[in-house]
Amino acid sequence: MTERKKIPYKEMAEKESCFRPGSTLCVGCMESIAFQNIGRATDNGIKTIYTLGTFCGEVSTLYWPDVIAWGRGDESPKEFSKSFSIIHNVFESAPTVAEGIRDTADLLTDLGALKQPVQVVSNSGDGGALVIGLRSLLHTIQRRSRITIVVLINEFFANTGFQYAVTATPYADTATTPSGDFIPGNLSEPINHIGLALMAGAGFVAQVSPAFPKEFTEACEKALACPETAVIFVPSPCITGWKYEEGRTVELARLASETGLFPTFIKEKGKEGFLKHVSLDPARRTPVTRFLSPQRRFHHLVREGKGDSPKGGEPVVIEGREKEIASIQQWVDKNLKILKCLTTWDV
Ligand code: SF4
Repeated sequence: MTERKKIPYKEMAEKESCFRPGSTLCVGCMESIAFQNIGRATDNGIKTIYTLGTFCGEVSTLYWPDVIAWGRGDESPKEFSKSFSIIHNVFESAPTVAEGIRDTADLLTDLGALKQPVQVVSNSGDGGALVIGLRSLLHTIQRRSRITIVVLINEFFANTGFQYAVTATPYADTATTPSGDFIPGNLSEPINHIGLALMAGAGFVAQVSPAFPKEFTEACEKALACPETAVIFVPSPCITGWKYEEGRTVELARLASETGLFPTFIKEKGKEGFLKHVSLDPARRTPVTRFLSPQRRFHHLVREGKGDSPKGGEPVVIEGREKEIASIQQWVDKNLKILKCLTTWDV
């Protein structure tokens, strides 16, 4: 990993992002917060090229000529190192197109035609990267392409109508796994996306939310400095699909880690990784019902009680659904054990 001067978070927060106002992302969408922060981390004196697969973060931010929410500053920067380019492609191809750009830039550098370095960042949703494009993703990682891959995880194909994706929490109600009297929503366990990225040979793998801004921007910097493929999975609460009240996006992102459903995980190749913002002791961990109960996609299992707190009262499990809640909790216990093993696992 190339060592770069570590930038204090306060300084990072004042950097110029490449994500501008004007997108049509839902108000309260975590993706816009992620883009703001990734954009700041790329303001590091190196020209940035983005690739965007099809997902909410693309259709709501790059819809020429009406919506273009990308670019650094109000005018094209004069310095090459500050400039920003973006290429849209289809659902599954953001990592592959990024790899092609990386190879082309390296070739132009070898030929002396490109005098300054460029950094390449691929952005996709979980539907594009882990369902339609899983093969493209793993092959790009396996070829050790020197790019940063960002995968925004909202557990759906959100922009096509909230169909199930392989990251979906068990028993989630989705357009293709609706909850009813006989089937209580999605019956599959989520894919182990962190394990897949590590086993394909990624040089850096993180699962981290902008709700933990220091860890998030540090992970972005490490990814951009990685000499092999770096992958950042960003758990991204989706206010429209998860159906929760406005103002709770960051709270839910934190609960996703603290309950162990999407724990913060950081691993650099050759070094021991770590889990953070989650207890490995089930007795000390926040129960999953805290994360599930504010979201109407889980209201067939659990709801918030009527408490005095503006955040609602204690979760109340729907009678007869104790088994499903226990099963989600058991999956979390199992997944955390696997992730703990992966903190010491290198290809
Ligand atoms: S549908 Fe969900 S992921 Fe898409 S823009 Fe709205 S909140 Fe964000």
